Amino acid sequence: MIDINTIKVSLTFPPSKVTFPLMTKLVRVFELEVNILHADVRLNKTGKLIVELTGETHNIDDALKYIEEMGITCHIFNGTLTWDEEKCVHCGACTSVCPSRALTIGEPDYTLSFDKEKCLVCGLCVKACPLNVMCLAQRE
Ligand code: SF4
Ligand code: SF4
Repeated sequence: MIDINTIKVSLTFPPSKVTFPLMTKLVRVFELEVNILHADVRLNKTGKLIVELTGETHNIDDALKYIEEMGITCHIFNGTLTWDEEKCVHCGACTSVCPSRALTIGEPDYTLSFDKEKCLVCGLCVKACPLNVMCLAQRE
């Protein structure tokens, strides 16, 4: 039986590695599907990518080892985010830090909307919320 897995990871590239074609390697060498969810990459600056990787578990494991060997820092997001809607005051502070636009405020009623499908479980909104109504729990 083939063991297929999907993980979300944040990758931090040192300035010397921002032009390294990591995504191509992940596809060609490790046969992974790569979905780029967020990118902040500029020449000669530290680069950040948030990507979803899908593939056979042993290929994902090998790819993570390869990424580390290349000097690229990798953090796996494996938590779940819960929003205590009752206590939320819809101030919008969390929307300005959410990289994937999972959290939005807009017309018609200017109340917070949370789209779980878009959430990267990065935890940035947890730190931004003045009332601590966002909670990130890590899975085992
Ligand atoms: S920062 Fe907290 S209180 Fe403000 S909208 Fe976001 S979840 Fe609600
Ligand atoms: S954890 Fe919060 S800030 Fe991060 S993607 Fe999910 S909703 Fe947005």
